Amino acid sequence: MTRATLNTRRSILAGLGGLGLVGSVAGCATASGTATGPSATAFAPRRLAPIQMSPQRIIRITVCTRPFRAAGPRLDVERIGDTKVVHNYGHGGSGWSLSWGSSAIAADKAMALAGEMGSTPTIAVIGCGALGLTSALQLQRRGARVVIYAAERTPFTRSMRATGSWTPDSRIADADKVSPDFPQLWERMARESFATHQTWLGTDGDPVMFRDQYQLAAASRPTRPASRPLKLTGPAPVRFAEYRDRIAGLAPRSVPIPVESTPFAVGSARVGSQMQFNISELARRLMEQVLAQGGRIETRLFHIPTEIAALPETVVVNCTGYGARALWNDQTIVPVRGQIAWLAPQAEVDYGLYYDGVVVVSRADGIVVQSTRGGDMLGYGVEDETPDRVDAEATIARAATVFSPVRPPRPG
Ligand SMILES: Cc1cc2nc3c(=O)[nH]c(=O)nc-3n(C[C@H](O)[C@H](O)[C@H](O)COP(=O)(O)OP(=O)(O)OC[C@H]3O[C@@H](n4cnc5c(N)ncnc54)[C@H](O)[C@@H]3O)c2cc1C
Repeated sequence: MTRATLNTRRSILAGLGGLGLVGSVAGCATASGTATGPSATAFAPRRLAPIQMSPQRIIRITVCTRPFRAAGPRLDVERIGDTKVVHNYGHGGSGWSLSWGSSAIAADKAMALAGEMGSTPTIAVIGCGALGLTSALQLQRRGARVVIYAAERTPFTRSMRATGSWTPDSRIADADKVSPDFPQLWERMARESFATHQTWLGTDGDPVMFRDQYQLAAASRPTRPASRPLKLTGPAPVRFAEYRDRIAGLAPRSVPIPVESTPFAVGSARVGSQMQFNISELARRLMEQVLAQGGRIETRLFHIPTEIAALPETVVVNCTGYGARALWNDQTIVPVRGQIAWLAPQAEVDYGLYYDGVVVVSRADGIVVQSTRGGDMLGYGVEDETPDRVDAEATIARAATVFSPVRPPRPG
């Protein structure tokens, strides 16, 4: 399989990855919509409130750069003078998903390095995004006092601009560039994260929840064939790692359902239960917990690593995300630009969908509409975080067709 073909396949998976539907893709184009086996009972037909999929309902357009490293997240230890820095950055499109597991690894290393400081060491965390907050909490859980230093804090970090789906292997690494033990490390991070995220289920404000996600396909192939090779003008494509098979059975899988049981004007449908993060609420709650357990947050911008060595804390966990590229002059971090058009929230919409390269996720703080057309290479090497309104409206128009009142003829 060529890289272009692989990445085009990922262009389909990119949307589904966010939906927890990966692994069931093969049948999606041809599924007749006939539900068999457990699907009929797992997902009984139910009324779905229509999403008002109109550019008039855009409330904001956010753009952010995923911190992609071909070798996967950086988790090694570096010494700057007397200061020991445990790195915890470079999680691509999986930072929220893998946060607890990655931060547990970083926290264990930091506690081991702080060994001689006694049972209650004070450890610094640089960064207040998904990785900084979970690192702080993992350290506190292990008995440390924590000071977070960050240029920006919740809700102004890049982490706040994420979709909010369980996507543990989205742009996490280049399969050809990782060390032999990385897949196993990834699995450990994914399993610990999936379990820890679930400790938030059912708590106030639903920071973590499971929602039905519909994977929809047109009756006939879209006019733009899914297999058209991508024209890439930027850096050479990478072979994005796919590790989902390692955790098969961990998250619910999707099942085919009769398209007639849905309100969608499409040819076939699958549905699965997807872990979703209500990021505004989750980040707020994480920050509150850090503070409630005696943590402090100081606003600080570091320009060079030696400024970190001047901190009073001599053990530091570095969770600067994309910011590490400049701060650590780490050119192995590649920006992967992603844009979300946010529609006004609709509390009555309790599901999401994927159709024709568009991911739609309903959250309390808005309805996420995100293009994944182009696959994981979409935005690769692009640092520009300027919103593109034209693209946002085109993406909304594509998703809107599934709510068309005229159902197209079904095949066969
Ligand atoms: C469009 C889009 C959608 C995404 N959707 C998902 C998703 O659904 N699920 C998922 O798991 N992941 C998703 N991601 C990926 C996820 O958002 C990132 O992996 C994650 O946010 C990275 O978190 P972080 O804490 O490492 O970095 P950040 O959130 O960028 O936090 C970095 C922190 O470090 C601080 N900092 C940086 N440099 C300095 C400095 N020099 N001095 C002081 N402080 C500094 C910042 O101020 C900030 O506090 C998505 C990403 C994008 C772009």
